[in-house]
Amino acid sequence: MINCPDCYSKMERKLLDKRVPAYVCSSCEGTWISSSEYADWLENQAGKITIEPKLSEETPLPAVAKRKPLICPDCGRILKRYKIWPDVEFYIDRCGGCNGVWFDRDEWAVLTENDLTRQLYRFFTDEWQNQLKNEEMVSRLRTMYSERFGKSDYEKLRETKAWLENNSNRDQLLAYLMDKDPYKS
Ligand SMILES: [Zn+2]
Ligand SMILES: [Zn+2]
Repeated sequence: MINCPDCYSKMERKLLDKRVPAYVCSSCEGTWISSSEYADWLENQAGKITIEPKLSEETPLPAVAKRKPLICPDCGRILKRYKIWPDVEFYIDRCGGCNGVWFDRDEWAVLTENDLTRQLYRFFTDEWQNQLKNEEMVSRLRTMYSERFGKSDYEKLRETKAWLENNSNRDQLLAYLMDKDPYKS
């Protein structure tokens, strides 16, 4: 028997949607999935995984950002929080020791709705996390440029840049643009 890492109440054995074995807190409805049980479940899933999670997915119900660090109910380490989508305050906690995963109330449902329950491991990879940080950086820069140039000028600039990049005369066009007086001999 394990206790809830969040509110320390008793946790009950339950099967989640798609029959994933888990412990669910009788009080806060947080959910703990152990790594080995998840791996077994994943292995028994019929068919190949066809859905690729997308970083910029439209995501319903982002959870509220959380407060205190949680302790793994299985092995006692501190759970690490992982962001799942860029610029969305939705986090999943995972134990680096035993790889168990903690979901606050309704978080598993969000993954179920997005058909991502079989993709859990992917979110914890460096690849995913780096990609996510990259996207967040790009969107911060976009905001910065947009504020600096003004929205409509920035839009025009982006269009012009795209047009230039695709033009076979790019270098000459740029030289023309940069030249203060291209008609002076
Ligand atoms: Zn609880
Ligand atoms: Zn653990």
